[in-house]
Amino acid sequence: MSVLHALQTRAAPFVALRHDLHRHPELGLKEFRTSELLAQQLQSWGYTVTRGLATTGLVAQLQRGKGVKRLGLRADMDALPIHEVNVFEHRSVHEGVMHACGHDGHTAMLMAAAQYIAQEVEYSGTLNLIFQPAEEHPGGAKIMIEEGLFERFPCDAIFAAHNMPGVPAGQLVFIEGPAMASSDDVTITLTGVGGHGAMPHRAQDPIVAAAAIVMTLQTIVSRNVDPQHTAVITVGSLVAGQANNVIPASARLELSVRSLDREVRDLLQERITQLVTAQAQSLGVLAQIDYKRDYPVLVNTAAETELARQVGTELLGAERVTRQGRALTGSEDFAVMLEHCPGSYFMIGNGAGESTGEGTGDSAVAHACMVHNPGYDFNDDILPVGAAFWALLTQRFLKD
Ligand SMILES: [Zn+2]
Ligand SMILES: [Zn+2]
Repeated sequence: MSVLHALQTRAAPFVALRHDLHRHPELGLKEFRTSELLAQQLQSWGYTVTRGLATTGLVAQLQRGKGVKRLGLRADMDALPIHEVNVFEHRSVHEGVMHACGHDGHTAMLMAAAQYIAQEVEYSGTLNLIFQPAEEHPGGAKIMIEEGLFERFPCDAIFAAHNMPGVPAGQLVFIEGPAMASSDDVTITLTGVGGHGAMPHRAQDPIVAAAAIVMTLQTIVSRNVDPQHTAVITVGSLVAGQANNVIPASARLELSVRSLDREVRDLLQERITQLVTAQAQSLGVLAQIDYKRDYPVLVNTAAETELARQVGTELLGAERVTRQGRALTGSEDFAVMLEHCPGSYFMIGNGAGESTGEGTGDSAVAHACMVHNPGYDFNDDILPVGAAFWALLTQRFLKD
């Protein structure tokens, strides 16, 4: 029996687990019920389970044979603060919390693999299954690493997968090199001198300065970044003033800054800081810049991505493998793990088609619906595909 067929015949209890997790979603660092459920099952299959990394994170380890290689497979467990509009039976019972990114599916997929590997797969080496909290917010990967993840559980390579609506179900998409963008949050506070709207010469207007800064920032992407590189600077919030005849004393701008290259990321920070400071000074207001570096660029290493492609092709055939997909401007905190260890993060299609995300109860509509939409749902048909991929990757990576 092929690995894929074996996982398909064993899928039912893990689809049930997925539905249970979907019904009981938990926000980042609060995945207490989820991790308790996983720990019990993993222990019963023979894994050594370490709990408490990043509060609710856990690592399940299974060592076999004399092999010295160590493999890490990671799944995320957290849900989002979204009110689910789906009407199916496994919809969320926690008001305002929803598995709208499919992390319930990623977790169930790795659990199905964990059971199969423990019971059926021969390998030689150490397998570390990393169940990570708080991918969405505030970044559980970083916390686990700060608490000693890779010192306590060293890995020679790590892998993770994310479902992707709009891509045919079960299609595997690999991306060598930069695959997901860095994401930085910048808050700019402009302080001027408030005054009467009729007498602007007696004030220092932060609104005019804010407007000038918004326009000037657009020149960074068009004039400073190499046209062949990707960069995004979005001013998503500009707050100032309350009345038409009052010049306020301050204004606040909030920016989302993204790039697909570590050097471009540095360039953006340097130019934003320079331009904002100079522009504010030229207009007589003071700029305070709070530049918060959030998730880094996610970079997949070449050798590990090639191994993943080979495993995907062996499992599904070349036609269901996209060897080099396009990078995305979304972000993912597995990027932090990849800064410490070689590895690869890939996409698994959740289902093609069009969706308005209105929670019609039609599962094909929910599968094509974009993640973070209140009408989204993980596609259970891809659960055995992802689980079989993890099992075969373990076999291929941890061979003598
Ligand atoms: Zn998400
Ligand atoms: Zn996600």
